Amino acid sequence: MQQAVEVACPHCGAPTLVVIDPANGNAQEYVEDCAVCCRPNVVAVVLGPDGPRVSLRPE
Ligand SMILES: [Zn+2]
Repeated sequence: MQQAVEVACPHCGAPTLVVIDPANGNAQEYVEDCAVCCRPNVVAVVLGPDGPRVSLRPE
């Protein structure tokens, strides 16, 4: 089952919806461009027992 978490872009502050695919593992990190300002963010996802934790940081 996919989950989506809303986090703020570290560049422009716009809320960004990150869709989590658990099939990719319990700890994921990838680069995704912000849909609003188009700057690259490193998306870090950790799937814990109490749900996914998502953080964005500038690349
Ligand atoms: Zn942005």
